[in-house]
Amino acid sequence: MFDKILIANRGEIALRVLRACKELGIATVAVHSTADADAMHVRLADESVCIGPPPSKDSYLNIPALLAACEITGADAVHPGYGFLSENARFAEILAEHNLHFIGPKSEHIRLMGDKIEAKKTARRLGIPVVPGSEGAVGPEDDAMAIAKAIGFPVLVKAASGGGGRGMKVAQTEADLMLALSTAGNEAKSAFGDASVYLEKYLQKPRHIEIQVLGDGRGGAIHLGERDCSLQRRHQKVWEEGPSPVLSAEARAKIGATCAKAMQDMQYLGVGTIEFLYEDGEFYFIEMNTRIQVEHPVTEMITGIDLVLEQIRVAAGGDLPCTQDEIVLNGHAIECRVNAENPVTFRPSPGRIVRYHPPGGLGVRIDSAAYQDYVIPPYYDSMVGKLIVHGKTRAECLMRLRRALDEMVVDGIETTLPLFRALVREPGIIDGDYHIHWLEHYLAAGDTKKP
Ligand code: ADP
Repeated sequence: MFDKILIANRGEIALRVLRACKELGIATVAVHSTADADAMHVRLADESVCIGPPPSKDSYLNIPALLAACEITGADAVHPGYGFLSENARFAEILAEHNLHFIGPKSEHIRLMGDKIEAKKTARRLGIPVVPGSEGAVGPEDDAMAIAKAIGFPVLVKAASGGGGRGMKVAQTEADLMLALSTAGNEAKSAFGDASVYLEKYLQKPRHIEIQVLGDGRGGAIHLGERDCSLQRRHQKVWEEGPSPVLSAEARAKIGATCAKAMQDMQYLGVGTIEFLYEDGEFYFIEMNTRIQVEHPVTEMITGIDLVLEQIRVAAGGDLPCTQDEIVLNGHAIECRVNAENPVTFRPSPGRIVRYHPPGGLGVRIDSAAYQDYVIPPYYDSMVGKLIVHGKTRAECLMRLRRALDEMVVDGIETTLPLFRALVREPGIIDGDYHIHWLEHYLAAGDTKKP
């Protein structure tokens, strides 16, 4: 096992990793920008190192500074959290070159899945069903119109190196295709430095259902059921739950087994998420994330397995925590991403939290690095924290979530709490009858004008 882990992240996920390290008896090193000197993860870690000024590129993405921090503190492994360097294959390699462990998958798997076109090819090869689309990147020499017509309109133009919902444009009809190709290409070029795009069938009313996997890197791998992340705004997840309200035990076992088998064949190491769109009873692979995800607590609540702790264990050469048969899904969990944003316009609202009261009680979990008088800096994401609620049934979970949201107080900044208080009372949500465009329609209808 590792002796000392450096956590190359900030906010709630840095705290989450720190908690797992403490329970494993591993010493921790926090790193922080000058803007985060008072942050909770810095206070709770055994040691901390300032790695630069506020902009991420000068601090949390600053690889030489992170290496120096490992050297100074004697850390032997680095946990990247999510975002920042978590899916940077080169970072994983650089750490290895310095005799440091990267707590994550093998660098070749990070690289493979980071390229969405290669990821789709790999998925197809491993027997995972994919969204119909172009074979690979669609370049100027290709007849994009012919490819799109073969797929059938509407089609979605997607960036090969896309992420966070950027570099994606829908072409409803033939007339839209050229503009969608150039807009998506330009957006991808400026956001990711890579203009290559590909085409996919645009699914009309799918759900986003993702499978959590865990591999030991030696051919052992299991799946831990699914999360339904269909409630999205601008392709960004807002509310996640598990199990999905629409998936039968048979359908779960089938897609889960396909994913676990694929991870065994790859000899995948660590935690990962295989993301699908699900429509009319069919799964369509869209991408794989090779890191711990924001919404991982949903799975932890229904399986009782600490994913971050197991991620660290397998990275150190340990075995999987159990066999596939030993995984039993228990009850239902929902996560709400509470952001420092106006609940109607979603304009970021950084600043001082003047009053903070997290909810409590049975089945209520808060993953947050916020506290009273904490100032949310304007430089990073706007997350205040995640509220995760567990119940024996989905109905119990919803009632518990309703009361937990009503208890929660975050004053001084605007938050998305009023949106969640409205959502938890919406018939469409209560019935579990929603798809990936549901929230955008709901917001466009102005139902949250009076939160
Ligand atoms: P990113 O890496 O930018 O998050 P994804 O490929 O994971 O991109 O897609 C993000 C979201 O975009 C999905 O959850 C879904 O809402 C939407 N999306 C992606 N592909 C399609 C598709 N083929 N048809 C309809 N919606 C899609």
